[in-house]
Amino acid sequence: MREIRYLGDPVLRTPAEPVTAFDRDLRRLIDEMFATMRMADGVGLAGPQIGVGKRLFVYDISNRQGHIVNPELVIDDPAEVVEEEGCLSVPARESGRPLYAPTPRAAGVTVRGFDRLGRPVQVTARGMLARCFQHEFDHLEGRLYVDRLPRETARKIMQQAH
Ligand SMILES: [Zn+2]
Repeated sequence: MREIRYLGDPVLRTPAEPVTAFDRDLRRLIDEMFATMRMADGVGLAGPQIGVGKRLFVYDISNRQGHIVNPELVIDDPAEVVEEEGCLSVPARESGRPLYAPTPRAAGVTVRGFDRLGRPVQVTARGMLARCFQHEFDHLEGRLYVDRLPRETARKIMQQAH
């Protein structure tokens, strides 16, 4: 279990560095990220969210789970889909639960990267998994879902946030 970093922590606004060593430390990190995501009842978690500025994320959503190291994201279907989205790093001050807001995302994406042993992986997704991939990829670029909201909606989220 690792401590989750919240909005306002500079690590969430810093582009992450590529993973260079596919070693035991990486495998332990991935295991810890899974444990942290599950304990927090999340569907995805990126390195910067636990203060690790490395390009990797884990996910568990829509009966699909996995991890991707050094991901590249390709938009296959740019049609905009707006659905409720939240983030473990943007919890409400009072409840501690993620704050949700309708967030625009592309309808379909493909993520290419590597697994914990350095083997190439590729996942094509639509729906909530595609949304999750775009959300987690944003974290690796130092972006948050609130950046994609209309200004007024983002302002309301910020006011309620931790
Ligand atoms: Zn997030």
